[in-house]
Amino acid sequence: MFKDWEEVKKYQVDVVRILTNSMKLNRVSHAYIFEGPNGTKKEDTALLFAKTLFCQKQINGNPCNECHNCRRVDNLTHPNLFYIKPTGKVIKKEVVTDLIKEFSKASLEIGPRVYIVVDADKFNQSSANTLLKTMEEPGQEIYQVLITENYNGLLSTIISRAETIHFKPIDRLVIKEYLCQLAVDETLANIISQYTADIEAAEQISRNKEMEEVILLVTEIYASMLLKDRSSIISFYQANNIVNNLEKTDFFLSLLILFQKDILNTKINSNQELVFVNEKEIMNRLAKKVDVIIIKDILDEMLNLVNKLKYNINTTLAFNKLLMSMERGYKYATYSRSDSI
Ligand SMILES: [Zn+2]
Repeated sequence: MFKDWEEVKKYQVDVVRILTNSMKLNRVSHAYIFEGPNGTKKEDTALLFAKTLFCQKQINGNPCNECHNCRRVDNLTHPNLFYIKPTGKVIKKEVVTDLIKEFSKASLEIGPRVYIVVDADKFNQSSANTLLKTMEEPGQEIYQVLITENYNGLLSTIISRAETIHFKPIDRLVIKEYLCQLAVDETLANIISQYTADIEAAEQISRNKEMEEVILLVTEIYASMLLKDRSSIISFYQANNIVNNLEKTDFFLSLLILFQKDILNTKINSNQELVFVNEKEIMNRLAKKVDVIIIKDILDEMLNLVNKLKYNINTTLAFNKLLMSMERGYKYATYSRSDSI
């Protein structure tokens, strides 16, 4: 959990400006919508917002992180903090009714109350109405933070009564630095930060040894393009237990695309920084060997496959065809496009 607003700035500078200003000027809205893609620190920011509101000894607009209230927010045990995360497809009315009952209990402490609702787009009409009614109770220090990745899925009654704060995808460089701080190898951090802008997903991948095997497989496939006696298709089949689910298939194809783009950038002497920085030699040799049109065509074929993978196609067969195209292009210079998957 975040300790202060300075920490959040690294990820969401505009959000920090808006929220800290409104607190400084005593113009905090009673309902916020935190909107933005997965892995953009919306929940952590909402909790810091709550902690700041509850803290008894704020220091320059930041929570002290030491008082009783701060500690209870950190442990999610503050009685006036309600953190709602739906488990099913919708937030049922009963959940909201229970919550309101909790709210009216005399055991609650004096002072502000904060609701944080994750996946607020999962409210159905009646539970949203129930919650909206509480929002409008006058004279209460009630704050709501509704979090969503699907802004268009929110009910218009909610949108019109709340202030929307947009969370942008986190900068790739920030993700890379974050991974390096976790002692992830720099090359690996580089590759993962190019693959995803979701900081939580990036951290998960960096801890997953199987994903590292996928990276090795991609490098091996490209290395084999330089050797007539080694087949990338055999490498792929031998590694079939590595690329064995949707997540890894997606990662595998994305890495092939990043490597292919690296070769293209090498070929056209682009200033673009390479992703697979340790494989410059392979890239130089492949780039020298084939025409730029073939490099682009293979890249196109990979990009087309991204769309096809969304449908229920035979992935082994699809990759088999792609690898054959790559072999024809890089190894035998007899490339012709195979579109018939
Ligand atoms: Zn405090």
